[in-house]
Amino acid sequence: MPISLYNSLTRRTEPFAPLDPERVTMYLCGPTVYNYVHIGNARGPVVFDVLVRLLRRHYPHVVYARNITDVDDKINAAAQQQGVQIDAITNRFAQAYRDDMAGLGVAPPDIEPHATTHIAQIVTMIEALIDGGHAYAAEGHVLFDVGSFPAYGKLSGRDPDELIAGARVEVAPYKRNAGDFVLWKPSTPELPGWDSPWGRGRPGWHIECSAMSAAHLGETIDIHAGGVDLLFPHHENEVAQSTCAHGGKVFARWWMHNGMLTFDGRKMSKSLGNVLLVHELLKLHPAEALRLRLLSGHYRQPLDWSEAAIQQATSTLDGWYRVLRDLTDVALPAGELPVPPRIEAALCDDLNTPQALAELSVLADAARQSGSAEAKAALLGGGQLLGLLQQAPEAWFRRGDEAIDEARIEDLLEQRRAARASRDFARADAIREELAALGIAIEDGAQGTRWSIVKA
Ligand SMILES: [Zn+2]
Repeated sequence: MPISLYNSLTRRTEPFAPLDPERVTMYLCGPTVYNYVHIGNARGPVVFDVLVRLLRRHYPHVVYARNITDVDDKINAAAQQQGVQIDAITNRFAQAYRDDMAGLGVAPPDIEPHATTHIAQIVTMIEALIDGGHAYAAEGHVLFDVGSFPAYGKLSGRDPDELIAGARVEVAPYKRNAGDFVLWKPSTPELPGWDSPWGRGRPGWHIECSAMSAAHLGETIDIHAGGVDLLFPHHENEVAQSTCAHGGKVFARWWMHNGMLTFDGRKMSKSLGNVLLVHELLKLHPAEALRLRLLSGHYRQPLDWSEAAIQQATSTLDGWYRVLRDLTDVALPAGELPVPPRIEAALCDDLNTPQALAELSVLADAARQSGSAEAKAALLGGGQLLGLLQQAPEAWFRRGDEAIDEARIEDLLEQRRAARASRDFARADAIREELAALGIAIEDGAQGTRWSIVKA
């Protein structure tokens, strides 16, 4: 079944074919880690998680990179405010981001490059841009000369002449064109910085993604994804940098952009007081209902977020899990779960998750009516491709709303880790039972032990 994807670059839905079918490459712009992320920031990672699941079904080897921006003026400001080094901030919030995404059922990327560990590649790329006449050093800064790239503005559909001339705002005196953007900027002694041919400084944001993408995925990649708010200037600038640094080679063959979230019909903003953090929502609602809501609209459209919408997603999942609970005693056929063709077809059609969810409802009805092992397997198989319906029905229904003493749980988990490390398995099992009595299920994996609430 061929995959078709809308390409922001050509403004058309096109049959997807990777440059190398043995190695499909995809890059998603990740977070700048100085705070918890809000639910709007989770839409891209969740919808593109479904795309990666689909691609992995079609191609033997998909390399998916999602970066961490761990040097940025907002991080510097937070570090100065709290009187700590930037890595105290970035390590904490990079981990919070991973935890939030795991909570939403997002599989970790294959590669998670950090900007601060790619300074050498960034400097090399800037040098190539200067050598090629696409960038210039001025007053400790290095700027990209947008006048040197005739295709500037093509991705975002903007008039290059206007971009070069810029808006009527005050322009730094060292810029050749108002639209020139920073590749490197000088750091004062109290700011983080690295030695470079242009003095001690730090990279601009845009160049990080160009350098990290090339370092891990190659000079031309298949898919570059992100929120539509990044289309300009971030992605436009990535195209300019990468194309010019690589002798005119195409940077990303497909550009995919997810729409923004609104909240009860309004834009989310701090001043409206409607900024909803994933970290907080995960404490208030079943994680799977949050994921279902994020997938319930087409990824290119705006999606409205409201309390009522989360309740609706929760009751939809109640219905599906009720079917699965009623079929608890029906043994699944041997082998891998099948992927129902209609669900796959919906996702192959530019990731039409609302259609896929409608098909999942049809499968749930069919499973309820027939009670057959095949129908149950189809429902679970369809859910798997969407990252839904993968927990035991009892776990879904016994989700707790009572206050959980997280510190106590972490303390017991630490004791269990110590017991296992000293091969005291009887003690480790006793702690597992103690946790179970508290309504906490634990699961050991490569990333450590995760816990979840199973009892109200
Ligand atoms: Zn980026």
